[in-house]
Amino acid sequence: MPGNHSSLTPQLPLEASQSATLRACAACRQCEAYCAVFPALATRDADRREADVALLSHLCHDCGCCREACQYADPHPFAVDMPASLFPLAAAARKRLLALPLPGSFVPAARTPHDAARHAWFSTIAAALVCVALVFGAALALNGPETLFTRHLGSGAFYEVLPRTALMLLFPLAALAIATLWGWGAVRLWRELGANLRGLRSIPSHYRAIKVFLQPQGSPTGVKHGALPPELGFSGRRRFFRHVVGYGVLLVLLAFILGFIEENFMGRYAPFPLLSGPVVVASLGALLVIAGSCVLLSLRSPQGERGGASFVFLLLLLSLSGLALIAFYETHAMGSLLCLHVGLLLALFTRLPFAEGADGFFRYIAALRFIQERRRA
Ligand code: SF4
Ligand code: SF4
Repeated sequence: MPGNHSSLTPQLPLEASQSATLRACAACRQCEAYCAVFPALATRDADRREADVALLSHLCHDCGCCREACQYADPHPFAVDMPASLFPLAAAARKRLLALPLPGSFVPAARTPHDAARHAWFSTIAAALVCVALVFGAALALNGPETLFTRHLGSGAFYEVLPRTALMLLFPLAALAIATLWGWGAVRLWRELGANLRGLRSIPSHYRAIKVFLQPQGSPTGVKHGALPPELGFSGRRRFFRHVVGYGVLLVLLAFILGFIEENFMGRYAPFPLLSGPVVVASLGALLVIAGSCVLLSLRSPQGERGGASFVFLLLLLSLSGLALIAFYETHAMGSLLCLHVGLLLALFTRLPFAEGADGFFRYIAALRFIQERRRA
């Protein structure tokens, strides 16, 4: 059995509700058309070792489809909620794979979805407050209080508030360090799943894994969602709006790259004109993130808070502050808005290594391993 590859990793003590959900879904299999979690559940080791749980929990991207469709969800006595069961397991796997002292690790490890969500909110709010305070403090220390309330106009006006060298070095270096950490964790997961580096060379596997990763319309088995009985009430809203947020973030990243090119190769410095490439692309991306995250935050589980909401909330604040900066960059508010925006961006970077950001890497590895195991099964 493919799951036997992971027998070298310790068995994980699961909560009773998590075990019950995994057992119920493995027996029921009604939701196999929704995502890779359910087909993988059928092939991974029944005793749920750490690597199996890491694979299952990272295949879930919390689209909510199975929760909406589940005939055993609350108020049924089984109270099955697969994403709520998997979220704390993904958080525990992430913590173990990255093996770093985490912000929030001084509080007890999350044992329930509610604990995990509370810890995530605590870490996110603490990171946002500390980072915004640090950036305001740096601007005040370097340029004095008047820098926050003076109009700064023209090319390079941002750098009259915060030093250009610090901004240019801080974020690319932080991104490099984070990507290295995630890559290391991904390699650990790949090995725990019983794979070797040769398995990374298969182009067809990567192609199929990307399809699973992006979760387009069909399931990995090729069954369309429409094949499920309409009375199951599938809407797919969560998944759709997660994609909206994801594409918005990609556009904002593209805007950063365009801005970097403008600054370093074309001699034009931020803030850029309203109709320039970086500003138009960043605005479009921010609008997508705002629209998608507002809907995601409004889609609450009947069983309460789920993980990921605090991260989405941080993305929402970052997008709102970015749009406000674009809208008011020729006013006296620019200095304060810039510090707020950079502070929130810094908070996002401090959360990325330890929060849901790393899950993209792990989900791709889980999807790749899932595809390879299915081909062999
Ligand atoms: S989520 Fe509910 S309907 Fe879907 S497989 Fe599990 S028990 Fe069955
Ligand atoms: S929430 Fe979505 S991705 Fe997660 S197990 Fe359910 S259907 Fe699969």
